[in-house]
Amino acid sequence: MDRIGNKKSSQRLPADLYIGLVNALFQDRNSLIMGSAATTLAAIVVAIHTSGWWAWGFAFALPLVAAWRVRDFSVHNRAVAWQTAITASYWEKRYLLGTSIFLNLLGTWTCATYYLSNNEFVHTMALITTVSHALGIATRNFTVGNGSRTQLLAVGIPVVLAFVFAGGAYPLLIPLILVPLGFFIAGSAARLRNTFLQEMLEHRRAMQIAQRFDASINNMPHGLCMINSDGKVAVSNEALKQMLGGFENYVSVGALANDLIAALVRQNILVAADGARLCDAILKKNDSRTHLSLNNTKGNTFEVTIQRMENDGAVLVVQDFTERRNAQRAIERLAKFDPTTGLPNRSQFEQRLSELLLLSKGSAQRVSVLFIDLDDFKLVNDTLGHAAGDDVLRTVASRMRNFASSADLIARWGGDEFALLKFDDTLEIELCDMAAQLIHALSAPYEVDGMTAVVGASIGIAIAANAKEDAASILKHADLALYAAKGAGRNNLRVFQSEMDHRAQLRRVLELDVREAVENSAFEVFFQPLLSINSDQIISFEALARWRHPTRGFVPPTEFIPFVENLGLIEPFTNHVLRQACLACADWPNDIRIAVNLSALYFQCCDVLENVESALLYSGLAPERLELEITENLVLDNRPSTIAALNILRARGIRIALDDFGTGFSSFSYLLDLPVDKVKIDRSFVAGLVNDDRARSLVDSLARLIGRLGMHVTLEGVETMEQYEKVKGFGSIDEVQGYLFSKPVEQDQVATLLLRSAERSLVPNVLNFKKPSLARA
Ligand code: C2E
Ligand code: CA
Ligand code: CA
Repeated sequence: MDRIGNKKSSQRLPADLYIGLVNALFQDRNSLIMGSAATTLAAIVVAIHTSGWWAWGFAFALPLVAAWRVRDFSVHNRAVAWQTAITASYWEKRYLLGTSIFLNLLGTWTCATYYLSNNEFVHTMALITTVSHALGIATRNFTVGNGSRTQLLAVGIPVVLAFVFAGGAYPLLIPLILVPLGFFIAGSAARLRNTFLQEMLEHRRAMQIAQRFDASINNMPHGLCMINSDGKVAVSNEALKQMLGGFENYVSVGALANDLIAALVRQNILVAADGARLCDAILKKNDSRTHLSLNNTKGNTFEVTIQRMENDGAVLVVQDFTERRNAQRAIERLAKFDPTTGLPNRSQFEQRLSELLLLSKGSAQRVSVLFIDLDDFKLVNDTLGHAAGDDVLRTVASRMRNFASSADLIARWGGDEFALLKFDDTLEIELCDMAAQLIHALSAPYEVDGMTAVVGASIGIAIAANAKEDAASILKHADLALYAAKGAGRNNLRVFQSEMDHRAQLRRVLELDVREAVENSAFEVFFQPLLSINSDQIISFEALARWRHPTRGFVPPTEFIPFVENLGLIEPFTNHVLRQACLACADWPNDIRIAVNLSALYFQCCDVLENVESALLYSGLAPERLELEITENLVLDNRPSTIAALNILRARGIRIALDDFGTGFSSFSYLLDLPVDKVKIDRSFVAGLVNDDRARSLVDSLARLIGRLGMHVTLEGVETMEQYEKVKGFGSIDEVQGYLFSKPVEQDQVATLLLRSAERSLVPNVLNFKKPSLARA
């Protein structure tokens, strides 16, 4: 803080204090007027008494200076609000000047009365007036610091001179007495000033401490209350008042703490028992620190710490724990419940299952677990969006609740899987009945945002068979049962049977084997010839994957390919077959092509164009010699992107064949715009060729129609000569494939087949067959 004002003063005055002191000088205008009026009156009396012109001069001059000072007071007081340290210093000097002039004038007047008049009354009148004024300096102006000395000199010098003029030794004694009196007055003024300033500074410091204390307790997040030994509130802060909302008067200083507690209990804000505990803790003298957790009836939780003080008072610190407690509860909820459906989650289910299994020991009641998996739920998410999917899940949850008793636990297991935990004496047959009803309920349409969604449900049921069963095994059993239910198609239920476990083990072993086989490129490629019906000669081979299992022998592709797909290995597997097939074909005569099967999943997940290109590059095979067999479901699943890819492949010269035609949705409408060169009619059509006229005409018409659309037609599965004869008779089929000509063979037998094809000995009795027609011709 700047050092302001009286330079000789040892006090360093803060600006605001200094301004306050200066302002105080100008405060008592009335006493100034009274003093001035008395002085003027004295001067007029002296003037009348002496009739001297000089006395009248003083009688005019004194009120004139007084008036100027009164005016100064008014001017100062008007500007007091804008006072700064600098203006205060100005006004201090001005004040000093005013008093000094006035006092000097008084002193000079007294001196003049002694010099110019011999009248005792006049002398006494002037002296008393002047001395009493000088005494006022100490009382009125002590705050002006060394200014009081200036004022004493201003009045003292002429007064001393007055006694000198009075002549004689005795009058001279008076100033000798007056000088120490002056010192006494100056000293008193200085002491008064110092004491005053000291007091002011102390007060100021105390105020600052109080303000800081106030600021800190009022800005702390905790509620605070200090209670004296008489049980009355000594201090309380804003936070506490806010926490008490409406009861803040009870914690104002001097209030009785017990009154507050009683009021809170009366208003049902505090539970009576908690109130009693609080009273106890405040009044109890032994414990130095007590913690209490209180709940008010609004559901807020407060932690109160009561710290006893040495003088038997107590300090209460109150923390609002509501938010923290809510956050804790939310975390607990998140850890135990599924946020979408509000159902308990998997971890809670598993925990409850373990508890129930323990309980079930020695009990007649049994634990059963139902795993419920929604069928086609992915479709809802894909077509209607995830928000709609969530809505469906919530409805599923509420429909499931209708099937559960209050003792049952329904959980969201994750994704579109739910689980139901029962602990009662329900029989297996009753469980199945309930599960069937549940499937029925869950399969009813769901209304979501004005749209309708349909999902199915499959249920696997496991019942704890004996007391030894643990949570893990019963969950595994329910899972296996669910797997079996899903395997049986939509909306099915299965109860766990021990064979399922056996099958699952086999499956796991097989999975491991398949993975290893793919990693080691252990799959072999066999080749089955396709013959031109016109020339009876091989025109291409179909590459068919074979798995020669060390213990199981040959595993058919229909069995292992689903595993390859489920394990996410379809890309390396197909690429391997593609390369082997192309590499083999590159060795064959140029007019022989190779056909490779591509599964729908391969088209969806992998970069078909790049992989095919890389196989061609690897083998050096011309694209025109490669044929790719695709199935209908691929085209149905993924139309635009698949068609684009097929078009690019065809533009490269690669042929596309539609495999197994007639087994799926087989619609001619999509054959119209499908980029396909060839359609392979499924072998299931062959069986009826010999004996069934309708079957015969069906195949013939099918083949003709396809032919008209500009595509080649292959018939698969020709096993007998009779069948082949019929096919040949149609004239609508271009190529044939089947055991009649050759089973799929290893690569090293291809050359033999080609040789036999050139010798025309591949088709048994081909000559016999041709003879009759020749004979007819
Ligand atoms: P597909 O594409 O229809 O292959 C023809 C299947 O019919 C082959 O069975 C073949 O051995 C069999 N077959 C041929 N002529 C006759 C016959 O006259 N009578 C009978 N009953 N069957 C005949 P395979 O080799 O067991 O293959 C089964 C299926 O596995 C194939 O059906 C194909 O869909 C799939 N597959 C085979 N290899 C691969 C492959 O490398 N990749 C893909 N994605 N699938 C493959
Ligand atoms: Ca095929
Ligand atoms: Ca086929």
